[in-house]
Amino acid sequence: MARERQEMVVELERYGISNARVLDAFLTVRRHLFVDAQSRPYAYSDNAMPIGFGQTISQPYTVAYMTSLLVERVPSGKVLEIGTGSGYQAAILAGLGYRVYTIERIAGLYAAAGRVLDALDLPVQRRLGDGTLGWPEEAPFDGIIVTAAAPHEPNTLMNQLADGGVMIVPVGDLGSQQMTVIRRRGDRFEHEIFHSFAFVPLCGREGWGDNNE
Ligand code: SAM
Repeated sequence: MARERQEMVVELERYGISNARVLDAFLTVRRHLFVDAQSRPYAYSDNAMPIGFGQTISQPYTVAYMTSLLVERVPSGKVLEIGTGSGYQAAILAGLGYRVYTIERIAGLYAAAGRVLDALDLPVQRRLGDGTLGWPEEAPFDGIIVTAAAPHEPNTLMNQLADGGVMIVPVGDLGSQQMTVIRRRGDRFEHEIFHSFAFVPLCGREGWGDNNE
């Protein structure tokens, strides 16, 4: 599906994604491997799609937008993703050369994403559990990407950022969230606020709890 992938990248550029490294990663990673058989013909359309368990693979534009925010601030290093979902965002990050750690709370998604990432031989460390607690044994991280809607800035995760590290997280209510970039400067945190998006809820201890699937 190389032609469809190329067309997706052209569309991303038209929507304002301009980072060459990001566009190259989208050209390289085969998104159709991360969706189920029924969705495969549409894998390169700019849409979120169901991946089971009430969850979605985010639309390519959203993944590219968050990835660009990260790449422009933290070009390399160790990155933690919260919300493995299909594994696509983790594969994009690995394609960009980051050392990737990812956490998913739903066992079925954790297993399915693991199968695809392993088949592609991508160096992604995976964990099953509540991502709002982070991965303390592997902290600090140069980057953290939260791919689900947080009700407030996730404190435990912020404290697992390295000095100068950056977190990308959609923060807001269940209907709409503002993409927020938080950079750690010693004991202080700087904030930048970007466009609105609509994500599935971040569950767990520092999310919306465990009844929002
Ligand atoms: N990044 C994913 C991808 O590339 O397919 C899409 C993520 S989907 C929009 C959000 C994911 O976050 C879901 O798979 C959901 O189960 C997961 N999630 C929600 N709360 C979580 C938590 N506390 N810890 C880990 N994963 C969580």
